[in-house]
Amino acid sequence: MAYTYDDQNIFAKILRGEIPNDTVLETEHTLAFRDIAPKAPEHVLVIPKGAYVALDHFCAEASDAEIVDFHRTVAEICKMTGASPGEGGEGYRGITNAGENGVQEVPHYHLHILAGRPLGPMLL
Ligand code: IMP
Repeated sequence: MAYTYDDQNIFAKILRGEIPNDTVLETEHTLAFRDIAPKAPEHVLVIPKGAYVALDHFCAEASDAEIVDFHRTVAEICKMTGASPGEGGEGYRGITNAGENGVQEVPHYHLHILAGRPLGPMLL
């Protein structure tokens, strides 16, 4: 996979402890923290600790342990925010942006979990 990881991106700095973050949950391979400019009452970013640029990079190169840990963390965040329909919550939206067409600002793979209000139809 021809991805090049920029270790000066802001999430890399968060992972190294160089800048603060509002952590919701941390596991061996994954960090979940609140978005600094929330677009919904609950807006959590879930990121792998490994150096992956985008979803396809993560899926192609991460270990099984990292992939499982990441998704278990997503499940836990949906539960913790009260968003999971499976737990009686009112739902959420998971979004990831990649590259230029996806308008990805931070080149470290992250999944946005948005919840806490009706999110409307997905605009394309
Ligand atoms: P992207 O467009 O999918 O790359 O989204 C990047 C997200 O990172 C945006 O929603 C930003 O508000 C968020 N963000 C940027 N810097 C920080 C930070 O230092 N802490 C938490 N969220 C951040």
